[in-house]
Amino acid sequence: MAVPLDPLRSSGVVELKCAVQCYAWGKIGLNSTVAQLSQHNPSFKLEEDKPYSELWMGTHPNGPSKVLAGDKEIWLSDWIDTNLDVLGGSVEETFNGKLPFLFKVLSVNKALSIQAHPNKAHATQLHEERPEVYKDPNHKPEMAIALTPFEGLCGFRPLVEIQTYVKTVPELVAVIGQDAATALTSGSDSLALKKAFTALMTRSPDAISQQLNKLLERLKEKQSSGHDISDQCGELVLRLNSQFPGDVGCFCIYFLNHIVLQPGEAMFLGPNLPHAYLAGDCMECMACSDNVVRAGLTPKFKDVDTLCEMLDYKCGAKEENIFPCSMTQVTLMSQFMIPLYQTLLLPEFRETERSGSPEMEFVPVDPNEIPAPDDGAPDPNETPALDDGATNPNETPALDDGATDRNKPPAPDDGATDRNKPLHQTMEQPIQINSLHQTMEQPIQINPLH
Ligand SMILES: [Zn+2]
Repeated sequence: MAVPLDPLRSSGVVELKCAVQCYAWGKIGLNSTVAQLSQHNPSFKLEEDKPYSELWMGTHPNGPSKVLAGDKEIWLSDWIDTNLDVLGGSVEETFNGKLPFLFKVLSVNKALSIQAHPNKAHATQLHEERPEVYKDPNHKPEMAIALTPFEGLCGFRPLVEIQTYVKTVPELVAVIGQDAATALTSGSDSLALKKAFTALMTRSPDAISQQLNKLLERLKEKQSSGHDISDQCGELVLRLNSQFPGDVGCFCIYFLNHIVLQPGEAMFLGPNLPHAYLAGDCMECMACSDNVVRAGLTPKFKDVDTLCEMLDYKCGAKEENIFPCSMTQVTLMSQFMIPLYQTLLLPEFRETERSGSPEMEFVPVDPNEIPAPDDGAPDPNETPALDDGATNPNETPALDDGATDRNKPPAPDDGATDRNKPLHQTMEQPIQINSLHQTMEQPIQINPLH
């Protein structure tokens, strides 16, 4: 469909209107940065006891952004189709004129799954072998930048730390087995680490649950008698078990680095790196794919064999996974990004507590199609929720997976046009922000998507 150039582009900026997702793991009410940002949308009605988990900026079919062009709203994907130069030559050519990234704000109240993402070649292979599970051939590198203290698991701990836990947490030895424990503590062989981690992940749920209960009992006793339990990650074990009782992920913390990013700090999640988001608010940028291999802290489909085989068993200090907060980042985050989103991006409120089978998460692969969503995937334990009935108020509401018609063009507008004032995000010219932030010595210039 030919979309006329919006007049605002001549000024160098266009406005994005973004989708909000309300998955059950989101922070509640105004504790959520997503909700705080959403409040700048005049149509947003805060529900104080509702989770607000994600704000999406991009063209993903499950929550596509819109561009305001004068008094019209245009799907960002349509707008890009007729303004291809905004992508920059290399992106336009490499990704067939499609936006290859999805940019999000996340507010995490409850842990997300322990997972890893395949590299491109492996993703292609997985897709060929099991297209019903891995429905696109793309890798999914991610970067998370903390907006608040942001807690996660990332990469394998230094071997000496894992060995210490094996020596001091008898329940861990019970679940990985004495042979694996002995091999792990008697050398520095990464194969021993792989065997021990695989033994843990493939242990029967009953055995895991039984040993976890023993561990919890022991930790609680120790705690109630006034002893410190931090040497065995006691508080984290108790918290994760309260969120996912009996889950194998509660033992994974003895293998994986426990990281708390400070605002402005970042972690990059490359292929085969085990990780999980546990709590906090962040901005996340990722390639458009949904190739997530999960193994714990999730009710969703787990592909334990694939995960254990693909992981990078390199041990390292948690600091190796943290990108420090530079002054540039501080400036960008505190003086530019947050005010920008609060002021310029007016999220469109979509209630998309999705449910259904995990398969519905995935998007059929088409090189010309924008690929799939992230981790807010259908959660079998969540109560099925109605779609964002605002989209088609005259239709019978249907159970939503947020992705019902990925092969169709995005749904009609929900009449939100006049809910928002036109505000702008540049895609053509570098943004010059000098009026919003008088504290800046120099106007910030953000290059477009080149
Ligand atoms: Zn991930």
